[in-house]
Amino acid sequence: MLVAQNLHKTYRRHAVQVQVLNGLNLEVRAGEFLSVVGASGSGKSTLLHLLGTLDAPDAGQILLEGRRIDNLPAHERDLLRNRTFGYIFQFYHLLPEFNTLDNVLMPAYVGHSLFNWWQTRSQWRRRAEDLLKKVGLGHRLKHRPRELSGGEMQRTAIARALLMNPRVLLADEPTGNLDAEAGGDIVRLLRELNREERITIVMVTHNLDIVSATDRVVRMVNGTVTDDAPGVRAGQNFQQPRLAAV
Ligand code: ADP
Ligand code: MG
Repeated sequence: MLVAQNLHKTYRRHAVQVQVLNGLNLEVRAGEFLSVVGASGSGKSTLLHLLGTLDAPDAGQILLEGRRIDNLPAHERDLLRNRTFGYIFQFYHLLPEFNTLDNVLMPAYVGHSLFNWWQTRSQWRRRAEDLLKKVGLGHRLKHRPRELSGGEMQRTAIARALLMNPRVLLADEPTGNLDAEAGGDIVRLLRELNREERITIVMVTHNLDIVSATDRVVRMVNGTVTDDAPGVRAGQNFQQPRLAAV
């Protein structure tokens, strides 16, 4: 589904260079729920940003279903970010002045011309409501983010990430700001989405408790990844997706 080949990434700040990725290779299979673990500063977020075309590697390439995506022209990359990838972050990034429903609708606002949006808005609204029900927030459509708990804010962010029907969800420490119970609920929800909607998920975390819900774990060390992180057991329940073209 998603392949990273020989990725290199170095950040440069004035005279200081930080080499974060150093020849990283990774294959994400269609339909799998993959965890990426590693110490703070090991480059997990950097990797996720590169996979999702939010940033570009210095060298190496990223392929989505065999097509190179790390060097796309801006408009194609924007389309990919809007339609193919769904992003979930530790701090939710909800817009405080908008209610839950409008926050979930945001990718459709930005992904359509005004005319097109006007014509299709009631369908989008229905989809957003359905997604909010699916994540357990059917009773919170008109709430602002500050009126929600952390877990509810993350559920809203997940509904937003799903709006455009992405094929790949990229989650960066999605439980990092939640207590154990709310965090567990979020991972169970992701697991369910992965199974039911057959969405491929890459989840970055340093919380080893939650990776047991996922199919496979890789660990980032020295700018690259190693398989089967020692001491960490992913679930043994990976199933090939039923549709070949997921
Ligand atoms: P992780 O998510 O595993 O904690 P990151 O990918 O965020 O790690 O960061 C890896 C390293 O790169 C860290 O040392 C961090 O300080 C550095 N880094 C991350 N982003 C930038 C940036 N935009 N500019 C400079 N250094 C950065
Ligand atoms: Mg990070």
